[in-house]
Amino acid sequence: MHVDLGGMVRTTFSHRCPACGRGPLFSSRFALRDRCPDCGLDLQGQHGAHYGGPIILGYAVGGITGLGTFAVLFLWMGYSAWVTWVSVGCAIVSVLLTFRHIKAHWTWWLYSVGELKPEPGD
Ligand SMILES: [Zn+2]
Repeated sequence: MHVDLGGMVRTTFSHRCPACGRGPLFSSRFALRDRCPDCGLDLQGQHGAHYGGPIILGYAVGGITGLGTFAVLFLWMGYSAWVTWVSVGCAIVSVLLTFRHIKAHWTWWLYSVGELKPEPGD
């Protein structure tokens, strides 16, 4: 399988269609369009295609950030309740800041494995 790393980076960070690189993926903050407005690629795929992956990736980002923050603060200052709350806060903020990138990355992944198809008739 050929992995298009340039396309992965472009889709993940510019939030553009993985097929044509032009059409914007999102219609609002976190909502994907149904189709690319430029080339017509089906961005939704089969029902449920977008449910599992972004949630798992979001948990991974939040978990790594929260545990990493906790480890640094704990080793630096020892345990106190605010170390826990700062770690939880960092985990939540990291997910909010990265979730669009995560969804865009997952869209690229679905396209690269053939899950997202061009408009019928193309
Ligand atoms: Zn497109």
